[in-house]
Amino acid sequence: MHEFDIIHRYFNVEQTAAEVLLGVGDDAALLQLPPSERLVVSTDAFVQNVHFFANASAENVGHKALAVNLSDMAAMGARPVAFTLALGMPEVDETWIAGFSKGLLALADRHGCALMGGDTTRSPVVMATVTVLGALPKDTPALLRSGAQVGDAMWVTGAAHAGLGDARLFLEAEQGAVQLPEAVYAHARQRMERPAPRVAMGQALRGVASAALDISDGALADVQHILKASGKKTGVALGAEINASAVLNGAFASDATRAFWRTLPEQQRLHWQLNAGDDYELLFTAAPEKEAQVQAAAQQAGLVARKLGVITASGVTELRYDGGRTERWNRHDTGGFAHF
Ligand code: ADP
Ligand code: MG
Repeated sequence: MHEFDIIHRYFNVEQTAAEVLLGVGDDAALLQLPPSERLVVSTDAFVQNVHFFANASAENVGHKALAVNLSDMAAMGARPVAFTLALGMPEVDETWIAGFSKGLLALADRHGCALMGGDTTRSPVVMATVTVLGALPKDTPALLRSGAQVGDAMWVTGAAHAGLGDARLFLEAEQGAVQLPEAVYAHARQRMERPAPRVAMGQALRGVASAALDISDGALADVQHILKASGKKTGVALGAEINASAVLNGAFASDATRAFWRTLPEQQRLHWQLNAGDDYELLFTAAPEKEAQVQAAAQQAGLVARKLGVITASGVTELRYDGGRTERWNRHDTGGFAHF
């Protein structure tokens, strides 16, 4: 099948976004945002054997290639508008492309985010690089990493079916480090391969959260980005106190994994739940008096907000246990996933 036929058949979708004046088919796309909004841009590469396993279904690869980008829009508080797709494959496998396109476009539809163009090429492994454009009202501050203050509460999003460390369990199982009961494995795999970007929550947090990002490297590793960016801005060496007992009590676990976590040693549970790549939950801070607004935003988005801890002026990240014992977290023992 020729490149143009692939594009025509699988990626030449009806444009629904009002902002896209010209989509797939010309040398470039044309967009027009309302004058009341600013443009927000993000890009994420999604490469076989680096970001996903070769045995992931085509539909799930399509879903996640866009999901991780929508998650970045959510973390900025932006409304996703449209995206481009650079797709590389070793060969043309039409069944695979059909599945990929189905997963990609179903998620795009759900968020009203239009595929407006891209590139299709041969490459040694499957890769899908998405660039997403979003919009943010001019009179609303974006959710940056740099707005956290001493005393702010730290929150993560979740749901009954979505907890910290779900995807980490899948990774560990694939590497043979743990054996999961079948239902736990199925859940962990679903959470790894089909993350749900918290787009509505991100927008609901505008004006409520003081700082935000999406968890892609593990909660504790990602907290460091907020501490660093916000510390630089405030001139204070910021730290974090993490409610370790709440983690051990299962407060951050999904219903499907909670009982299984309890079968693991405590240190391993803490490590895997707090240093899990691929959670794609929002991690955000908010002034303590905004707690009711945080809960209202979560409810509006069909999620829950779980309190992970508090921002301190200590310059370090500490795990705090009920009874007052604290333990310093060291990124080098247990740090998040780093590519190089
Ligand atoms: P050019 O070589 O001039 O850049 P292409 O042949 O790469 O043109 O692309 C032709 C049209 O198809 C362009 O409008 C481009 O945006 C679109 N396109 C190519 N690949 C994809 C894809 N994977 N998804 C969506 N649109 C695509
Ligand atoms: Mg091209």
